[in-house]
Amino acid sequence: MSEPGTVHLVGAGPGDPGLATARAVDLVSRADAIVHDRLIPQALLALARDGAELIDAGKRPGEPGLGQEGINQLLIELARAGKRVVRLKGGDPFVFGRGGEEAEALADAGIAFEVVPGVTAGVAAPAYAGIPVTHRDEASAVAFVTAHEDPSKRESALDWEALASFPGTLVFYMGVRTLSAVAKRLVEHGRSGDEPAAVIERGTLPGQRVVTAPLSEIAAHAAEAEIRPPALTVVGAVTALRERLAWLERAPLRGRTVVITRARAQASALAAQLAELGAHVVEAPAIRIVPTIDRPEVREAVERIEAFELICLTSPNGAELLLDALRAQGRDARALAGATLAAIGPGTAAALARGGLRADVVPERSIAESLAAELVSRGVRGKRVLIARAAGARDVLPEELRNAGAEVEVLTLYETVREELGDDARAAVAAADYVTFTSSSTVRNFLEALGDSRGLPPRARVVSIGPVTSSTARELGLEVDVEADRHDVEGLVEALLRDAGAGQ
Ligand code: SAH
Repeated sequence: MSEPGTVHLVGAGPGDPGLATARAVDLVSRADAIVHDRLIPQALLALARDGAELIDAGKRPGEPGLGQEGINQLLIELARAGKRVVRLKGGDPFVFGRGGEEAEALADAGIAFEVVPGVTAGVAAPAYAGIPVTHRDEASAVAFVTAHEDPSKRESALDWEALASFPGTLVFYMGVRTLSAVAKRLVEHGRSGDEPAAVIERGTLPGQRVVTAPLSEIAAHAAEAEIRPPALTVVGAVTALRERLAWLERAPLRGRTVVITRARAQASALAAQLAELGAHVVEAPAIRIVPTIDRPEVREAVERIEAFELICLTSPNGAELLLDALRAQGRDARALAGATLAAIGPGTAAALARGGLRADVVPERSIAESLAAELVSRGVRGKRVLIARAAGARDVLPEELRNAGAEVEVLTLYETVREELGDDARAAVAAADYVTFTSSSTVRNFLEALGDSRGLPPRARVVSIGPVTSSTARELGLEVDVEADRHDVEGLVEALLRDAGAGQ
């Protein structure tokens, strides 16, 4: 039998995947088995390695679920089978998460375990609502309280008198339906009905909502706003600070869902910038980049790369893959020292720069026509030109250069292939405020994956990185609402921001 594995009791944080700890991310990505609750960020689960066992131990209304005893048993069995087990819980595992009971069961069974604290919802949701749970002038203490749906059970265990007289902030982790009973009892036991209170729904998650009112009216306001779980309630003077400190609502793209269709491997910079601005970012990649630099044609062209006087790169992928192809043959950027380098788009120039190369020619407009015109005006007659790019790209550049007397070779460094849209992505797209396209191939493949343009919700605004992408979109029946002036990720974000600001 194999050595028993360790069980890691890990807090996943309150919902925003960015609030998972570095340790949680590391353990999730290396686990053999992950036993998780219901409210775990998908982005965190997505880090599980291929072949890891994902077990949903969450209770669902109307389903029996594993039960606490079943979960304890499962953890013990997985560990005994020699697995590296992550028990992933919302927020912090030891704050109302029954992590304590699971640790006890593991200790009793002689299984090694580790606890990885998480950011608890009782601190994080108020923070995202602009409510500091303590404050030098307003609250020197904070109490975390759990109030369950069934008042006959847990609530009777609570000392209402002590809670009502508690000198500080009260944070209730609770079912929404208990709110009115909680507020009533606090007031009955002497807490002022005028004290400010807030209910925070889906704290730190897209669609977070906050309702504020005096304690005596908070339940009615929450009911009117149809607050749903998960939600928690904060009672205390600190709640009033929200009026000045509600920072999240000020993010310019707050409440907007933005779909990114570019290849997953390239989406991160755009996703990070949009998320920083408050957007709910949905990655629905339409394409995947498949490098073809192992083909003999590429190897052969790289061997005689010094023979080219002008090398044109038409995309960041092309630039990166040309450098990869050089590296694959034990060479580096010096092989391109003698050639003039031309790049379409600032993103392509930036990719060259990362490889230590400065582009000599970057046309003002990021389209093949523009580069062709600029190169022809500089004179290309008799020159040996290499155009490194994707399979199936347009023929404008090679044709115009040939017409001007150049000797042109086209080298295919990668193919873009279509990605299918999963059900989750499809549902997310239906809720989109913006759909972003960063190339013609993203438009074409996205619409194919979707069925047709009618798959886009009518209110979704189409954002294009530049004129070529826009014209493909129009040909395929889309109306382009926003086009970037600068044809790179920053330019696209700028244009989207301008549009969002104008719409407010
Ligand atoms: N261990 C978790 C709490 C589990 S109890 C933690 O440390 O955060 C579950 C309760 O936590 C929910 O009923 C709700 O009251 C609260 N909760 C969890 N996530 C929340 C969120 N994102 N926003 C508001 N409340 C949340």
